[in-house]
Amino acid sequence: MTIHLPPILRRQTVARIKYLFSLRSFWFHRAMINSRHNAIVVGLGVMGSATVCHLAQRGWRVLGLERLTPGHALGSSHGDSRVIREMYFENPLYVPLVQRAHELWRELEERTGTSLMIINGGIMIGPPHGLVVTGTLRSAAEHNLPHEILDPAETRARFPAFSLADGLVAVLDPRAGFLDPEACNRAYLDVARGAGAEIRFNEPALEWMPDGYGVRARAPDTDSSSQARSESCRPNSW
Ligand SMILES: Cc1cc2nc3c(=O)[nH]c(=O)nc-3n(C[C@H](O)[C@H](O)[C@H](O)COP(=O)(O)OP(=O)(O)OC[C@H]3O[C@@H](n4cnc5c(N)ncnc54)[C@H](O)[C@@H]3O)c2cc1C
Repeated sequence: MTIHLPPILRRQTVARIKYLFSLRSFWFHRAMINSRHNAIVVGLGVMGSATVCHLAQRGWRVLGLERLTPGHALGSSHGDSRVIREMYFENPLYVPLVQRAHELWRELEERTGTSLMIINGGIMIGPPHGLVVTGTLRSAAEHNLPHEILDPAETRARFPAFSLADGLVAVLDPRAGFLDPEACNRAYLDVARGAGAEIRFNEPALEWMPDGYGVRARAPDTDSSSQARSESCRPNSW
């Protein structure tokens, strides 16, 4: 049986058949089949670990690459404490983000049975018309947050470690506190592994490039040259 096609369709059909048998099509489909990951996250400080964890929990197949060892001290996520403040003086826009972060830290604590965040209150100190105090009060007003304004005598009575100069005030944020950054990092990675993420330490990403399908990240071990539909870079400046 002969099928008669109009010239334009004939040209398109021939082009499609040529493509199906071409080298380009072979590599493209091989990449689709071989790709084990939907996302590659470069850098496993607390931001990278959180990213790996949340993607894995959403069912993504994630690869996390960290060039150094777990808990290393050459980034920003090591040490004993990081402050968390609800009354963000920098801008009230941050307040809902911090409130969501509170919920997520508590969820992570429950999931891992680890204490990560201590809420013990915090004080923001400055001149009454300065950036810190006015910004803190603006966040408190816009989001209806509980707070107290303390003069130097009240501050000394309640927080004896602080001796304020005359003319300064302190704004008490009762929902400020601190996090244990190394424990947070470990907790995220534990949950990420449990959700199926592949985590590799001592494995720097040497380069990444778009490859027509998504991205490919190259690590020193050639086996770990990996493809994914997206990549998240969370490295630092070291
Ligand atoms: C002294 C200090 C005090 C701070 N205090 C506070 C605070 O009180 N409150 C607060 O909220 N924030 C605070 N911060 C900020 C907060 O700690 C950082 O924003 C946060 O830790 C950043 O995490 P990160 O994952 O982005 O970066 P990092 O922790 O630096 O992680 C980046 C990772 O990328 C890895 N990497 C780099 N290149 C590659 C590569 N090619 N391949 C694979 N891996 C790579 C690095 O080894 C590193 O582990 C503070 C920061 C510092 C330094």
